[in-house]
Amino acid sequence: MTHRVALLAQNPGLPFVFDAAGRVDAVLTLGVLPGVRIPAGLPNVESTVELDIFGDPDGASGWLECQHASRPFDAVVTLYEPAGPFTAGIAAHLGLRGVRPEAAQICRDKYRQREAMRQAGLDVPGYRVIDPVAELGSQVSALRFPLVVKPVNGWSSFGVTRADNQEELKAAVDLVQGINSEQLASLAASGASGRTGVLAEEFIDGPEYCVESISDPQGTTVLAITDKGNLRGPYFEERTFITPAPLDRSIAARITEAVCASHRQIGIDFGASHSELRLRADGTPVLLEIGARMGGSGTVHYLVETATGIDFLGAVLRQAILGELPDLSPAHGRFAADWIVPVTGSGTYAGLFGADEVRQHAATRMLLELMSAGTEVPSWPRFVGYPAFVLSEHASYQDCKAYHTWLEDTIRVAWTSTSA
Ligand code: ADP
Ligand code: CA
Ligand code: CA
Repeated sequence: MTHRVALLAQNPGLPFVFDAAGRVDAVLTLGVLPGVRIPAGLPNVESTVELDIFGDPDGASGWLECQHASRPFDAVVTLYEPAGPFTAGIAAHLGLRGVRPEAAQICRDKYRQREAMRQAGLDVPGYRVIDPVAELGSQVSALRFPLVVKPVNGWSSFGVTRADNQEELKAAVDLVQGINSEQLASLAASGASGRTGVLAEEFIDGPEYCVESISDPQGTTVLAITDKGNLRGPYFEERTFITPAPLDRSIAARITEAVCASHRQIGIDFGASHSELRLRADGTPVLLEIGARMGGSGTVHYLVETATGIDFLGAVLRQAILGELPDLSPAHGRFAADWIVPVTGSGTYAGLFGADEVRQHAATRMLLELMSAGTEVPSWPRFVGYPAFVLSEHASYQDCKAYHTWLEDTIRVAWTSTSA
C-alpha cells in the first residue's frame, strides 16, 4: 500500500528525502515556503503546494486539515529546523505521530535548551539572556570572556558571533539584535514559540562534533558522531563534516550519554535529531544545541548511510508512517564527508569555479549546487543559504582530510559583482 506523507518546508535542491520516500512506498505532498522554486521531475512527489507556515500558519494548517479530511495523510514531517513547532503542532492536531509539541518548541529556543540541560545535570556554558538596550557590563558580570552572542531562535549559525571583550560584546549584541528584527522575528511566531532575543554564553574552547540520532519511547539511538572541526570565530560559518569522527571509545560513550540524557529531559521520544557539542579539555561534552529534526535538511542521511549503511531517512519515514523503527545496526564502516563551499565575501552569486574538476575526482559522490545565479549574498554572519555541498566517500579519515585540503584550492564561489 502506498502511504501519503506531507513534507513541509523542504529545500527541493536536496535529493535524499525524495529518494527515501520511494524506499518506504510513500508519495509526498511537498509543501514549500513562499518563493521557493520547485524543479520538475522530483521523484515520489504527487503534488506540490506553497505553504506559508510562518506568515500564515492558520491558512497552512487549514489547507493541510482539508487535504487530510478528503484523503488522509499517514504522516506529516519536516527536516527544516524552523518548521519544527508548526509540524509537531499540525501532526498532533491531525492525530498523526510526531515530535511532542513542547519538545519541538524547546528545541527552537536556546535559552530553554540551556535550562533543560542544566536540569538534566549536564555541563552547560554560563549563559544569560541579554537585554540589548540595558547596560551590558553588569549583565555579563557572572560570565567569563570569550563569550558567544546569538539569537535565541536562530539556525545555520547565522548571527552567531564571538566577543572577546566588552567592546566586541556591544558590537555583537547590536548585530544580533539587528538580525533578529530583520529575519528571525517573523519565524518566532510560528507554533507560538514566540521568543526572539539575544543569548550570551561562554565560549567552549574545544573541538566540535555533531551527533545524529533517532528516538522512540524506549530511548535515543546514536547513529553517528561527526567531526565538525574547530571553528574559532568570530563567526561560525559551517564548513566540514566528517563521519565518523576519530574518537576514543570512552569519549564517544560520554557524548552518547549526554545526548541521551538531554533527549530524555527535553522529551524527544520520536524521530531524528541533530545535536551539536564541543569537548572541554578534560573530554567533558558540552551540548551547544539539539534540533528535533534531521540535520542539514536531510544531508546527514548521506553521512550516516555512507559511513554505516543505515538507511536513516528510510527509518525516519517508516517510523512516522508505521510507528516502528527498523533494525539500526551498522552494516559497514566507511568515511563520509560533507564539505560546504564557503561564501567568503558578498555580492551577486554567479556560480562555482572548479565544479567540473571536483565532480571528476574519484572520491566525490555528489556536488549539490544549492544557490541560483543572481542571488544577492550578504557577508557572514548574515545568511541566505549555502552555495553548495561536496559529498564524498573515503577509506580513511586521513584520505578525507587530504581531499578537503585539495577542495580548498580547487573550488570556490564566483561573483558577478562583489560588494565591499
Ligand atoms: P545555530 O542554531 O544558529 O546553528 P549554534 O548555537 O549551534 O547556533 O551556534 C553555531 C556555531 O557557533 C556552533 O556550531 C559553534 O561552532 C559555535 N558556537 C556556538 N555557541 C558556542 C559556544 N558556547 N562555545 C563555542 N562555540 C560556540
Ligand atoms: Ca540550530
Ligand atoms: Ca547549530
